[in-house]
Amino acid sequence: MSVKTEYRLARRLAQLEPSATAAMNARVQQLRAEGIKVISFSVGEPDFNTPEPIKVAAIEAINKNRTHYTPAGGTLEVRKVIAARVSADQEIPYALGQITTTAGAKEGLYLAFQALCDEGDEAIIPAPYWVSYVEQARLAGATPITPQTTEATGFKVTPAQLQAALSPRTRVVMLNSPSNPTGAVYSADELAALADVLRESDAIIIADEIYDAISYVPYARWLRVAPDMADRTLIVNGAAKAYAMTGWRFGYVAGPQPIITAIKDIQSHTSTHTASITQDAAVKAYTPSAELDEAVQTMVAAFHKRRDLILSLLAEIPGVSCNVPDGAFYVFPNVTGLLNKPLKNGVVCATSDDLNNYLLDQAHIACVSGESFGAPGYIRLSYATSEDEIVEGMRRFRESVS
Ligand code: PMP
Ligand code: GLU
Repeated sequence: MSVKTEYRLARRLAQLEPSATAAMNARVQQLRAEGIKVISFSVGEPDFNTPEPIKVAAIEAINKNRTHYTPAGGTLEVRKVIAARVSADQEIPYALGQITTTAGAKEGLYLAFQALCDEGDEAIIPAPYWVSYVEQARLAGATPITPQTTEATGFKVTPAQLQAALSPRTRVVMLNSPSNPTGAVYSADELAALADVLRESDAIIIADEIYDAISYVPYARWLRVAPDMADRTLIVNGAAKAYAMTGWRFGYVAGPQPIITAIKDIQSHTSTHTASITQDAAVKAYTPSAELDEAVQTMVAAFHKRRDLILSLLAEIPGVSCNVPDGAFYVFPNVTGLLNKPLKNGVVCATSDDLNNYLLDQAHIACVSGESFGAPGYIRLSYATSEDEIVEGMRRFRESVS
């Protein structure tokens, strides 16, 4: 084939941006391979290892040759365990036909958009938002509508903002609590007020609860507050964050049977299912166990301590201010005080994206700029890393901007 061949890619990819979080992670790996000691606050990934009993279950699965195809959407065993977990979480009974398991929550979300959206539909995705929501909506032909939340409301969408964003074309409304990137956690009252608005529309709510285990305030669940919305809610969750299982790729979607069946039908033509071994590991993770509860609580306690540590160190950096996040493992400081003025060596950053690059080049600390999350003026730091790295990383940050 001639090197001059021009590749014509599908039109729907014209606007596609690669995942900024995944791209930053790749850049960090590259710099480290070059011998540079980068401290990474970029990718949202627990630094803990998967708890031992889950690993043992996976090794047993291999040894027992549980390595064959499973039904699309997962084995009966894994869907039973997930149905029990979702029923307990939501305090609403979920049947097996209402559950599918996926290669991470990310695939679950992608499939949900594919199953629900047509060209011309709108998806309401409050900003700041997790990078993949808007791209997944666009890949499904939908237009993202991104009401801008602010620090004043703790980065939570207000009923008035939601009302203004709704239109006859609204197909999907994203709710993500605790939130990536802001760590915002909606209270029961706040969710109830949003439910009052959403009852007037026929939009499907996608509740991404992947950080549900990591809340430092009492966690209010959407469907416990608005159980009458269960027939138009998809719950998306996964094992990556709570069980430190990012690389295993396990997620699930729970919701009305016709939508779940449609998702499984797409799966039957695409990935079919996540790895059979991962499914057996997930059975272990989601089977009620005091030992695993304790392992999760230990990780959450560590995240809580690190949140307080990173907040106290950020507070010492002039030009930086930060909302207190109530959940997940991200801080989302406002860095506008560092823009458009000379930093060390006279460098001037006009945007938070420039500052993000500056921090990587000058201080060898990797963060993700707010631009990627629809919120210029901010940067996101994942503090799912050791206390030593947090202390050293914040020292480098302070030094490079003072
Ligand atoms: N939702 C949110 C809000 C996330 O931050 C992530 C990133 N891990 C995901 C979904 C996807 O998680 P995974 O595919 O690793 O389960
Ligand atoms: N969700 C994590 C993050 O936001 C992991 C990376 C990704 O899946 O995009 O950093």
